Amino acid sequence: MERFYIITETSSQSCPVCEATPKDFLNREKCIPKNEGLIHGLQPLHAIINVFNFLLHVAYKMDNKTWQARTSEQKKNVADRKIEIQQRLKNAFGITFDVPRTGGFGNTTTGNLCRRVFAEPEKLAEALCLDAEMVTNFSTILGVLNCKEEIDVIKLHELCQQTIQLFEEGGLYNWTKISPTVHKILFHSKEIIMMLPLSSGYFSEEGSEAKNKLLKKFRLSYARKSSVKVSLSDTFNRNMDASDPIIFSLCVNARQQKRKHRSLPKRVLQYLVNKENFEENIEFTEESTFSDNFVDELDEYIFNVEFDFEKLI
Ligand SMILES: [Zn+2]
Repeated sequence: MERFYIITETSSQSCPVCEATPKDFLNREKCIPKNEGLIHGLQPLHAIINVFNFLLHVAYKMDNKTWQARTSEQKKNVADRKIEIQQRLKNAFGITFDVPRTGGFGNTTTGNLCRRVFAEPEKLAEALCLDAEMVTNFSTILGVLNCKEEIDVIKLHELCQQTIQLFEEGGLYNWTKISPTVHKILFHSKEIIMMLPLSSGYFSEEGSEAKNKLLKKFRLSYARKSSVKVSLSDTFNRNMDASDPIIFSLCVNARQQKRKHRSLPKRVLQYLVNKENFEENIEFTEESTFSDNFVDELDEYIFNVEFDFEKLI
C-alpha cells in the first residue's frame, strides 16, 4: 500500500481519488472524483483489512464517543476497552486480533482472518458491540467489491449512501473520523467500478499478493547470492520462466483443483446484475495463495521442459 501512495503522489491520509484531506472526508461537495485518481482502482483485498481495523477502532472508542482520547481517563478507557474487545473476538471466533507479532513484523490481524469474521457480520457486530446494520453493510460492500460477477452499480451506490449517513451529522457514529479506505469505498466505488472494463474482483491484489510466496522461494532457492544484481536477475528470469503461458498452462488443472470453494452469500447476490442466473448460495472459486506443493510442481515442470529442450539441441 505504501507503494500505491508513492505512485499516486498522495499522502496516505488523503484520498487518491478526490484528493480530499481527512477533515473533508464526509463533505460531499469536496469529494468529487478526479479522472486521474479513478484509474488506480479500489484495492478490494486491502480494503477488507483496512475496514476491519477501522471498525476495531470505533469499537475501542465507543464509550468515549470521541475519536481522539485526550484526558488520561479517556486513554485508560480506550486501553481497557481494547482488551475487552480482543477477548470478545477471541470468545466469538477463537481468533486473537490486533496483537503485535513476535519479531516486530506487523500484528496478528491478517486479510484471511478479517475475511473469515466478515462472513458472519451479525456475530462480528455483537463481538465488537457495534450496530449490526453498519457491520453488515460493510461486509456486503466488501463482498461485492471482491466479486468477479457483474455488479449492479446503482444498487451498490445506494447501500454506500445509506452507510455514509451513519457517519454524518445525526448518524449513530457521527463522532468518528472515517479512514481513507472507508471514504474511498463509500464515496467512489460507483465511479471506479463504472470505469473498470471488468468487475472489481478481477483487479484485486490477490494475485500479486500470492506471488510474494513464489518470489521468496525463487530468491532463496534458485538465485545466486554473490551480489544483489545477479540475485535479482536470477529471480526475474525464473519468474519469466514460470509465467510463460505454455509452462503455466501445464499446472492450471492442478491449480484449479486446489482452489478453495466458498459460497456467495444471498446479501451479496442482491447486488449482482444477473442474480437470477445464480442459484441461492452459489459456489464460487476463490484464488488461493500458491501452496508449497504448487511451487514444487512448477519446479518439476520447468525442470522437465528445460531438460527436454536440452535434449532437442
Ligand atoms: Zn475521495
